[in-house]
Amino acid sequence: MPSTEERSANGDASYKIEFTKFYNTINNELSSTATTRHSIDPATQGTLAEVPVSTKADLDAAVKHARAAFPPWAATPWEERAAKLRAFADAIEVNKHEITHMVVLESGKAITTANIEVSLAVNHLRETAKLQLPEEVLEDTDERTTIVRYPPIGVAAAIVPWNWPLLLCVGKLGPALLAGNTIIIKPSPFTPYTDLKLGELGAKVFPPGVLQVLSGDDDLGPMITEHPGIDKISFTGSTFTGKKVMESCSRTLKRVTLELGGNDAAIIYPDVDLDKVVPKIAILAFLSTGQVCMLVKRIYVHASIYESFRDALVAFTRNLRTGPGSDPEVFCGPIQNSMQFAKVQDMYASIAKEGWTAALGGVDAGPEHHSGGYFIEPAIIDNPPDDSRIVTEEPFGPIVPLLKWEDEEDVVHRANDTKMGLGASVWSKDIQRAHRVARKLEAGSVWVNSHFDVSPNVPFGGHKWSGLGMEWGVRGLKEWCNTQSLWLRKDF
Ligand code: NAD
Repeated sequence: MPSTEERSANGDASYKIEFTKFYNTINNELSSTATTRHSIDPATQGTLAEVPVSTKADLDAAVKHARAAFPPWAATPWEERAAKLRAFADAIEVNKHEITHMVVLESGKAITTANIEVSLAVNHLRETAKLQLPEEVLEDTDERTTIVRYPPIGVAAAIVPWNWPLLLCVGKLGPALLAGNTIIIKPSPFTPYTDLKLGELGAKVFPPGVLQVLSGDDDLGPMITEHPGIDKISFTGSTFTGKKVMESCSRTLKRVTLELGGNDAAIIYPDVDLDKVVPKIAILAFLSTGQVCMLVKRIYVHASIYESFRDALVAFTRNLRTGPGSDPEVFCGPIQNSMQFAKVQDMYASIAKEGWTAALGGVDAGPEHHSGGYFIEPAIIDNPPDDSRIVTEEPFGPIVPLLKWEDEEDVVHRANDTKMGLGASVWSKDIQRAHRVARKLEAGSVWVNSHFDVSPNVPFGGHKWSGLGMEWGVRGLKEWCNTQSLWLRKDF
């Protein structure tokens, strides 16, 4: 059997896997469970393949193997662990067409967006493999040396949402494994397929017990957060569930990182070039049918350009096609699941109930228009009141409010007047002014003339109720580690 390095060098076909049957990966063995379940294709409501429903016994087995694998993996030199991440990236790349197809099938995402997700995931692993976390010597005298070092925490678990099943899984496992932890992945029951295949690919690259994937029902997440053999949880999902995760983790004092919901504001100044900025804002509001944590969810437009901005945004958005993600012309695929669809439909129903003006859409296209899937057309709400739910809540669907502003201080206050703090952006040709305003925004990521830029070496996370701690970059890597202060006394 060739080594992982030899396989990577050849783009080796032995990384090729089948995408018809789906298994848990426990200690590098593929296993099923007595009970199975399936998810559905959100574009058709058609039944997808059966997947395992893991029991407590499956979790106990995975934890036992992860604990056994931890000491040798933690002792493996950093560069060797980094090489395994690169090999894992190669293994994903060898299967990228099938993985892209799987992402479209299970998440409903447009194929153009799924292609981006796969490329981002591969790049994420390769760039993460370049990160270093050297020890820091704080003091080095004849009397003593003090060193800060970052040993791995132990057995970690990643709880992944359904909107970016590949990227958000890879964004956790890459840094976790590089730092020397072992990890158990729990995909969302709505999108288990891609992540189960990552487990299968991991078995070709990593030693047994280092990367394991278990799919399950709604009770698997709580089983994981309660488990005394797990030391760290990295969770991405809703703020509502994040609070439950933190509460459960407190009982065993697990380390916890939470990446939660967002309600990002974009502040548009009157000096922007509408032809350039309007298409960007539309794409950043409706990408993945609005089902991204860090999209533009409140658009504050200066009153002097409000009408022309609104009309241009409506005209551009009208041309964003809604339909099955597999159609290369489609920009907005279906809503991912029936529960989310009901929530989004409820938000659309508020247009009539609350008397909002829809500059675009507001009509529920309904499954009957699109082959039985959870489709809904984009909607733009024209200057609703600040306290309306389309402004205060995260819709997680293709509906966005456009809001008027006149006074800078006031708009900054309105942008910050939320419990959420994931991202925010300022759009202006006057970079100095935009930079000054950007520094006043309360969010984990703030952009000038952009939104939703992310990078494997830049920390990512939320302020306030959008999260706790950060992922990615050196700052994120430290959250997969304990901090140890080491005091060496020489005057003994
Ligand atoms: P969710 O909170 O419903 O589920 C997320 C994950 O948690 C799933 O794997 C689910 O099975 C699991 N889970 C559910 N209940 C649990 C419990 N009690 N204990 C442990 N695990 C449990 O979120 P979702 O609907 O899958 O995702 C959408 C939300 O995620 C949105 O609010 C979005 O903004 C947020 N999100 C945030 C980020 C970020 O990085 N900040 C990224 C993507 C999505």
